[in-house]
Amino acid sequence: MTERIYNFSAGPAALPLPVLEQAQKDLISLGDTGIGVLEHSHRSKAFLAVYEAAESLCREIAGVPDNYKVLFLQGGASSQFYMIPMNLLSKDQTADYLVTGSWSKKAVKEAKVFGNVNIACSSEDKNFSYIPEAVSLSEKPAYVHYTSNNTIYGTEFATEPEVPAGVPLICDASSDIFSRPIDISKYGIVYAGAQKNLGPSGMALVIIRDDLIEQGPTDIPTMLQYRTHSEAGSMFNTPPTFGIYVLGQVLQWLKDQGGLEAVQQKNRAKAGKLYDYLEQSSLFKPTAAKQDRSLMNVTFVTGDADLDAQFIAQATAAGLDGLKGHRSVGGMRASIYNAFPEAGVDKLIEMMSQFEKEHAS
Ligand SMILES: *Cc1c(COP(=O)(O)O)cnc(C)c1O
Repeated sequence: MTERIYNFSAGPAALPLPVLEQAQKDLISLGDTGIGVLEHSHRSKAFLAVYEAAESLCREIAGVPDNYKVLFLQGGASSQFYMIPMNLLSKDQTADYLVTGSWSKKAVKEAKVFGNVNIACSSEDKNFSYIPEAVSLSEKPAYVHYTSNNTIYGTEFATEPEVPAGVPLICDASSDIFSRPIDISKYGIVYAGAQKNLGPSGMALVIIRDDLIEQGPTDIPTMLQYRTHSEAGSMFNTPPTFGIYVLGQVLQWLKDQGGLEAVQQKNRAKAGKLYDYLEQSSLFKPTAAKQDRSLMNVTFVTGDADLDAQFIAQATAAGLDGLKGHRSVGGMRASIYNAFPEAGVDKLIEMMSQFEKEHAS
């Protein structure tokens, strides 16, 4: 078998090796059923057990209150960009969006199809390198939407923004879900595309409060109503069965790691090492404002695009893949989600120190 290398990809991203090994077995036969996980009916007893385990692990790990549903929907996080306003925003209402990166902007664009949008804050003036402190909410917003971690720019909200009582707070947590403890009761909806911290692409985990499900219109397509999926337990049509299976395995792995408190400690240690190195480096510089730095996506540059390219090429050759930054920031981005091993961060720092010795003026 080919040796596995360090995969710093922003998404789809590295998954825990024990999960992949288990999946390998379950592809041929899920437990002792003699049928692989991809081949089971979604209504089979064996798959229902997989589904129920995934849902209950999610509830347990995140402490999801009873008045919330856990849904596994198709179309990734981007489909939530329109499904949320389609269900919760009417033409005469305003929704507030905190704009901290291009994913937030994409969410805004979809919301405008259904109602009014108030940009409550934006950090676009400095290429989204920080999280704005001042947020100006509209009079009576239908909801407030924000992106907890800005995958492309390497910034992350330290805590959730304050909203007035009765206003649902909605979070796109695609790139930092379950990387730290979360108080679900503060939210109306938390959603995430699965391919960064949870499993395969194409699926979204949606944790949604009951009253928001009930509030949605009934004259929109059936598949696009939250109530459809809530009433059918995510089984209105064939759900993304493999995605649900992998998510369940990843959550079991997360539980075995000690849960969200423990994984936060590990994430702090991993990212902390990298930022400590960047702080003292005379060659590599972090691009995100210090107080807003992400534990999931660490972005940095040398300030010289040719040197960046040279570093990325050397790293790739040494088995450190996926370090090229997003084109809108340039430089490098190390995506170090829950499943990314600390040894890979050590290797990266070692390579950077070496490169710095050779190139620092
Ligand atoms: C990756 C990402 C998305 C897009 O997810 P898809 O599943 O590709 O639609 C949305 N928001 C954030 C914050 C992301 O990191």
